[in-house]
Amino acid sequence: MNQLHPFYFDDLNVRGCMVQLDAQLIPEGQRQTEKPASIELVGQALVAVALMSSGLKGFESLLLQTRNMGSIQLLLAECTHEGHLRGAAHLQDDSTDVMRGGQLLMSLDAQGQRFQSIVPLTGDLASSMEQYYQRSEQLPTRLIICSDATCFAGILLQVTATTDPGQSLQDFEHALTLLNTIKNEELLHLDPAMLLHRLYHQHACRLTNGQTLRFVCRCSRERSMQALKTLGNDDLHELFVEQNGKVEVRCDLCRTPYIFVPTDLLTHH
Ligand SMILES: [Zn+2]
Repeated sequence: MNQLHPFYFDDLNVRGCMVQLDAQLIPEGQRQTEKPASIELVGQALVAVALMSSGLKGFESLLLQTRNMGSIQLLLAECTHEGHLRGAAHLQDDSTDVMRGGQLLMSLDAQGQRFQSIVPLTGDLASSMEQYYQRSEQLPTRLIICSDATCFAGILLQVTATTDPGQSLQDFEHALTLLNTIKNEELLHLDPAMLLHRLYHQHACRLTNGQTLRFVCRCSRERSMQALKTLGNDDLHELFVEQNGKVEVRCDLCRTPYIFVPTDLLTHH
């Protein structure tokens, strides 16, 4: 659990990665206040960024966010090169048809630069990600992402670029045919080595242990304080009056509360 498992084939021009995340990885503050549908959505988004990170080299972080989504008020998922995950989702209602019409914004921070791409949401996260790969890398890619109340899981298969694209594509199609026999239940709860054996025992498939994944937030009291200070002295003064002398800022992601009193923030002349 909570580990990236990249895998490779000695006899097919295909690479892959799988991940199973324990739902307990999501901070308790989120699990207690958000609807189950929101928790599953953030879990699936964390699986997506973790799987995508497995193909990246020399990056700092990969961030996925939704834009212009009516019923998804918030969806954010990030994975760093150290395997630090953080994210949150907030759905307005329990509608299952939420993943349409909006866009996904992918931001990759690498070597001090930010690369952004916008992907239309086309039904679910996995198929939107596949489109992203098709457009950006022109590499056929398949993702399966699923979840239940206790676990979020996913698997990614991708063609590896070779000098014989025809053969590679044929390898990929073959690996895909075998992958399509998998059941969500197996992806969620089978041991990764057993799962890969079940799928690819006729092939020389090597499973490796990648990053251990943890929920690590980057918020801090200092950052919350700086954000509040941008309101300016007058607005802050008003805020303290409204809130009876104490302002609480709660991180959207880890739900840590930061409490401030006037002397923390107000400057006097
Ligand atoms: Zn936080």
